[in-house]
Amino acid sequence: MRIEDRVKGGAVVLPQSSIPDPQFSLFISDLHLSADHPHSTAAFDDFIATAACQAEALYVLGDLFEYWAGDDDLHAPFHQHVIDAFRSLRDTRVYLMHGNRDLLMGEELAHACNATLLADPTLIDLYGTPTLISHGDALCTDDIEYQKFRTLVHSVDFKADFLAKSLAERKAYIEQLRRHSETEKKSKNMSIMDVNNEAVAGLLRAFDYPRMIHGHTHRPARHEHLIDGHLCERWVLSDWDSQIAVLRCDNSGIRFQSIS
Ligand code: MN
Repeated sequence: MRIEDRVKGGAVVLPQSSIPDPQFSLFISDLHLSADHPHSTAAFDDFIATAACQAEALYVLGDLFEYWAGDDDLHAPFHQHVIDAFRSLRDTRVYLMHGNRDLLMGEELAHACNATLLADPTLIDLYGTPTLISHGDALCTDDIEYQKFRTLVHSVDFKADFLAKSLAERKAYIEQLRRHSETEKKSKNMSIMDVNNEAVAGLLRAFDYPRMIHGHTHRPARHEHLIDGHLCERWVLSDWDSQIAVLRCDNSGIRFQSIS
């Protein structure tokens, strides 16, 4: 087609195929990647190569790894595999947020992944809508035992003491903790492992009633909260065990997109 044919009334009309896709961002969490879970690793590889590479931004809202014992474990072959996947995203900004399992992810890992570490929670402007992003475990305030543990492991002193141990010692400790939490989960009431509505309301109020996106509970859904007369949306991300739904956001809105 000649350029003259494409100009109508002074505006260049591009052929359909060359209209660029609108920009979009993707949100994922709770992948629990480990060398022992080839299924979710394959899904992650596929997601990076097909969906994430087209996004302008990818937000990983915690529990990317089954566990992260410290950035000195960066060179393990499985970790290098994940790092290489992120590094392959040349046109996508990558943001990493800590979950409860990968709380010890540090700047060295973020740098290796070409990613930016975000604090939990962080308020972002998502195509004009203020959106609060979080892992979500801090909102599960009905689980009092867990919150006590969370306060402990988030303390600067605990982290420093823990990271001073050898990598082998840290891994052994985490493995033991995981076995304990698996047993505990079976006896815990399911309802205390979901978010507490008052905690959600308090956080949304503190950030001037934004939209919210979080993970952790493995209960993908869209919720509405009416707080002080403000209607706030809360989107909960899915885990990567079976039905994987990533959240896609562009200037027309936000929706789940299932990936195989
Ligand atoms: Mn979690």
